[in-house]
Amino acid sequence: MEKVKENIEDPEIKKTDESFRNTISIVEKDGHRKWIYPKKPSGRFYTARTIVSIFLLAILFGLPFIKVDGHPFFLFNIVEREFILFGSVFTPQDFYLFGLLMITVFVSLFLVTAVFGRIFCGWICPQPIFLELVFRKIEYLIEGDYTRQMELNKSPWTGSKIFKKGLKYLIFFILSFIIANTLLSYIIGVDALWKIMNEPVSAHVSGFIAIVVFTIGFYFIFAWFREQACILVCPYGRMQGVLLDKNTTVIAYDYNRGEPRGKLTEKKEKNLGDCIDCNQCVVVCPTGIDIRNGTQLECINCAVCIDACDSIMDKINLPRGLIRYDSMEGIRTGSGFKWTSRVIGYISVLLILLTTITVLFAKRKDVDANVLRTPGMIYQNQGEDKVSNMYNFKLSNKTFNEMPIKFELSESEGEIKLVGNEIILKPMEVHEGSLLILMPKDKIKKLNTPLKINAVSNGKVIEEINTTFIGPPN
Ligand code: SF4
Ligand code: SF4
Repeated sequence: MEKVKENIEDPEIKKTDESFRNTISIVEKDGHRKWIYPKKPSGRFYTARTIVSIFLLAILFGLPFIKVDGHPFFLFNIVEREFILFGSVFTPQDFYLFGLLMITVFVSLFLVTAVFGRIFCGWICPQPIFLELVFRKIEYLIEGDYTRQMELNKSPWTGSKIFKKGLKYLIFFILSFIIANTLLSYIIGVDALWKIMNEPVSAHVSGFIAIVVFTIGFYFIFAWFREQACILVCPYGRMQGVLLDKNTTVIAYDYNRGEPRGKLTEKKEKNLGDCIDCNQCVVVCPTGIDIRNGTQLECINCAVCIDACDSIMDKINLPRGLIRYDSMEGIRTGSGFKWTSRVIGYISVLLILLTTITVLFAKRKDVDANVLRTPGMIYQNQGEDKVSNMYNFKLSNKTFNEMPIKFELSESEGEIKLVGNEIILKPMEVHEGSLLILMPKDKIKKLNTPLKINAVSNGKVIEEINTTFIGPPN
């Protein structure tokens, strides 16, 4: 035990026993997977996480049904490039905003991780929420607590075992089907999903395949793959080593108070610490680690080891908090939260990003219009007294309304001729086309004349576009 204490106190100098870092808690020595049977948790943090999870799941399952003026509040239709965020339409032209939003989300995550560690995993991420607070709860309900689950798995296939396993996996499959449909409803919308469900499969082959693939995927993750997603696959989990430092609040064991650990009956006699080595913090851990070894990659900050240890401390009349939310520096010195330069740096970058995004959002227009002279074309003579240039234009309707669009020259004499029919933009449509601008020869004073074109809808100028006109100077 002393080795562990030394290890945590000053890992740089006293590297005595780091052997636990050579193995992963979910892999046996022979390389096979070690199936984790965590004890059914209980306690204040578990209850709080259950309440938070109900709230988050209500949002997750409810959002696709929320509509504003008959349109989805959120839609991420990657296939047809239709995106709706908070009821506002985003077109592929807004991709820079998406990029900035993603960067902001990452910086926020770095900031939260630098201050509170992997708190996102334990409290917000859908993977642990579904696994620990939905699927495992069902498992406990059907198969019993961890010891019963182990017994059941070892027992021969009786009628009772077939019934329990069959019922569990049937419920898991139904839940996976519901989650798959929810995910799809974010991509194609609830109305399109309803159609897939109510019309013949032959009319929606790709939608049907998507539902089947997503359902099998979720079933595989929650019925079998489980905590491996957090430990082996999740890139956020893999980045913990660079995101955490000694001032980060993590779930930590107070080795100053707990060590040397030993039996309760020998505590006084041998002057032991408060840890009675009951192993309860280990048996509840859904990733199978011993938090007393220090912060580890596998820890998803679920806090059930805090609950387990607190209940032991209550029973033996010692103060709670032997395992608690604290930083390694806090455990070592007893100090509170510190503003580190890293945290201040993240906050500064985040503020800059948020200001930029707010300004860009405020400046967003209902229609994006771009007009560019057709590459590779010079001017054309149109009769004796006129010259024309050819232009390509692109219009993006970011509303749910039809918008008639006209182009008009502002501050210049001349006329605009559309190639093709008049433009009526459909809702959320991106429309591309060509137009000609004809200018009187006597008005062209230089080779490259700046032009201003207004895009007008229902008598209102919705965008002013700057371009140039090439013609022989008069
Ligand atoms: S060590 Fe504690 S907080 Fe971390 S995963 Fe295990 S039980 Fe959850
Ligand atoms: S639950 Fe608490 S007392 Fe029991 S082994 Fe873990 S840290 Fe020690």
